[in-house]
Amino acid sequence: MTPEPVLVLVPGASGAPQDGSAPFHIAEEGAPQLLVTDLAVTRGDGVFETIGVFDGAPVNVGPHLARLNRSAGLVDLPELDLDTLSAAVDAAIDAHDPVPELTVRVIVTRGIEGTGAPTAWVHARVAADWSRYRDGMKVVTLDRGLASTVVDTSPWLLPGAKTLSYAVNMAATREAVRRGAEDVLFVSTDGYALEGPTSTLLVRHGDVFTTTPVSAGVLPGTSVATIFAALEKEGLSTREELLRPAQVVESDGAWLLSSSRLAAPLTHLDEQPIPVDAQLSRRFVDLLSGRA
Ligand code: PLP
Repeated sequence: MTPEPVLVLVPGASGAPQDGSAPFHIAEEGAPQLLVTDLAVTRGDGVFETIGVFDGAPVNVGPHLARLNRSAGLVDLPELDLDTLSAAVDAAIDAHDPVPELTVRVIVTRGIEGTGAPTAWVHARVAADWSRYRDGMKVVTLDRGLASTVVDTSPWLLPGAKTLSYAVNMAATREAVRRGAEDVLFVSTDGYALEGPTSTLLVRHGDVFTTTPVSAGVLPGTSVATIFAALEKEGLSTREELLRPAQVVESDGAWLLSSSRLAAPLTHLDEQPIPVDAQLSRRFVDLLSGRA
C-alpha cells in the first residue's frame, strides 16, 4: 500500500501568526482545508516549489526556499519566513513513512480574498515513478509565444516566476503526448530553445555544457546549478547561452533537469535523434538525488 501523504499547514509563512498560534502544524491530509475564496483557487494566484527527497534527505532546500521568496517578490507577496518554511518541510518529511523518493511541494497563495494574509502549506507524497523518463524521452518543440526579451519588455507576464498558474505548462505537456512525445522544449518567438514546462535545458557540446540564461525568462533551476557546480569542479566548461533548437539536435547530449524527475536525456527532438550517454545520465541522477 502507498504510504499516506502528509500535510503541514504554515500560518506563519510570512511572520508569526497574530493569534499566537504555532507557525506550522500537521493537519488531516484527506480533509477539506482550503476556502473556496482563496485566491489560489479563484485566480491561480500564488507561488510554489517542488523539492525532491531521496532516502529521507531533502535536496537543495535552501535554494528552493530562496527561489520561492524570489517568486513571491515577483508577484508582490510579502517576504517569506524561510526558517519557518524550512522547519515545516522537515516536519512533513519526518511525519511521512520512509520511502526512496518523496516529492514535497511548498505552496504560498495570496490567501483568502480581502484578508491580505497568505495561505501556505507543505505537502509530502510518494514521488511518481520517473524511471522510464530517466532512460530517455522524445521531446517536441512548442512555441512559448514570448520573445527571449520578455523579462525586459513585459515583466508583468511573470517570466521566471514559479507561480501557481501552471495550466499552460500542463496543456503543453498534453500537446506533447498528442504528438507522440513525452515532453516539451519551449521555443521563444525569436527562435531560441528555452526550457521545459517543468524543467531546465542542459546541452553538451564536447566538454562544454550550456543552459538557457535566466535573462531569457526561464526559471533559475536548482538542478542545473547543482550539476554546473560538479562539472566546474572537474574543470569542465559551463555556459549560460541562448541556443537554437538545431544546436540542441547537433549536440553530444541534451537533458531536461528538474528536482523530482532529475535528469531526463532527450533521445529525439522533433523526431531528430540526439545521442544518449547513459552513464553520464546516471551520474547526473545520482548527483541530483544527493546519492553521488
Ligand atoms: N523550469 C520550470 C518552468 C520548472 O517548473 C522547473 C521545476 O519545476 C524547472 C525549470 C527546474 O527547476 P529545478 O531544477 O529547480 O527543479
